[in-house]
Amino acid sequence: MSTMTKPSYEVVIGLEVHAQLLTRSKMFCGCAATFGAAPNSQTCPVCQGMPGVLPVVNRRAVEFGIKTALAFDCRVNPACRFARKHYYYPDMPKNYQISQYEEPLAEDGLLEIEVDGTSRTIGIQRLHLEEDVGKLLHEGTLETAQASLVDYNRSGVPLMETVSKPDLRSPGEAAAYLRAFRAVLVYLGVCDGNMEEGSLRCDANVSLRPRGAAELGTKVEIKNMNSFRNVQRALEFEVERQAKALGAGERIVQETRLWDAERGYTRSMRSKEFAHDYRYFPEPDLVPLEISRAWVDAIRAGLPELPRARRQRFVTQYGLPPYDAGVLTQARALAEYHEQATAALKRAAPSLTLSQAAKSTSNWIMSELLHVLPADDEAAIREAKITPSRLAGLLKLIENGTISGKIAKDVFQKMFASGEDAQAIVAREGLVQVADESALAAVIDQVIAENPKALEDYRKGKTAAKGAFVGQIMKATQGKANPAMVNRLLEEKLSKI
Ligand SMILES: [Zn+2]
Repeated sequence: MSTMTKPSYEVVIGLEVHAQLLTRSKMFCGCAATFGAAPNSQTCPVCQGMPGVLPVVNRRAVEFGIKTALAFDCRVNPACRFARKHYYYPDMPKNYQISQYEEPLAEDGLLEIEVDGTSRTIGIQRLHLEEDVGKLLHEGTLETAQASLVDYNRSGVPLMETVSKPDLRSPGEAAAYLRAFRAVLVYLGVCDGNMEEGSLRCDANVSLRPRGAAELGTKVEIKNMNSFRNVQRALEFEVERQAKALGAGERIVQETRLWDAERGYTRSMRSKEFAHDYRYFPEPDLVPLEISRAWVDAIRAGLPELPRARRQRFVTQYGLPPYDAGVLTQARALAEYHEQATAALKRAAPSLTLSQAAKSTSNWIMSELLHVLPADDEAAIREAKITPSRLAGLLKLIENGTISGKIAKDVFQKMFASGEDAQAIVAREGLVQVADESALAAVIDQVIAENPKALEDYRKGKTAAKGAFVGQIMKATQGKANPAMVNRLLEEKLSKI
């Protein structure tokens, strides 16, 4: 990415992340906040903005906000206040959104990210609560639609907005921030982190400035990025666009741009001239929220283990390399999968040390499981047909020599598709490893006899010829020969020839 940028410019990125909180009810009324219900089936006079109604703050949403604030080492303010943010849009029937402005729930936190093996600490400016707006659906495309429909189910769903400081220096760092941020929210259980369903949404502010300058350049806001990959792509595009413009002596216009993932570019949505004047003022229907020290302490005491702590524990408790620990703890469901599989393998194969069991499951998760499932798809990992105990069952068969590692990869695929036990597949398909010395010796003799050319090469000192023999032996046994035994027996035979 950095190669795309003119070396004379420094990239400055800040991210605003909106997370839908996993509360049962909405932010200011008792309506259900579940996703996917029939349009407008989860609404009431409060979230439809009828006149004369009064909002009531959802205690659980505040608790989730405090939990998150503490996880990011933010200062939780003893008092905060809700404000009205005014603008007119059909998905918001009150013509204002209840949000927080000058007195947010929490401020001044940090998040540690890692990019290419280097750690960096990114500041978090503020964290506040607000209500979500409804959803407009256009028939066809936005430009040609004949009709627009509105669904107020999302209207009033609790949102937590977290604004980073402009500390990010590349699109890669921005994507890493978002991943690390999402992982913390999912570990806390306050958000499901599903970007496709809009539970986690991200806007970015990006500007360029001459390297070494203290003053920030003119920033552009980018909206509409709904995956980690799109955040990175959109920012890469925008950084290059701004670098080109600045390089050509143009001025950057302060504006909001939309990311078009299909076409791969950002386009202008509105410029500063049309920027909204939100006319914030304190929400008169809600008293300031006082948050007691005791409540904050109680929430702090109940915080779960967070990704960074879990990563360190994986290194100390299981003796895993830091790289493995980082991969396995990037998502909560994945970390749990690894711990359960390791425990099951340790029970099934007691001769293994904990660290051997942990490394074995780690290898299989990193090479096989993550090859077929995305690490951050919590639901898919939890519902995988190859459960942690089934994976352990497979690894036990490798460990006790029943099947070879190569055969095990095929068995893994079958288990992933069918959810069968490894034992059942191996028995049915006759995959048990050939570890009978006399049977293998006969195969080896035959293979040597049938490959005089390879034998000639071997005699001339070409050690690669040995590999050719191993390949032939494996082929002759349909991959079922015990590799260690093949190597030993072949070595013995060849040394005698
Ligand atoms: Zn409602």
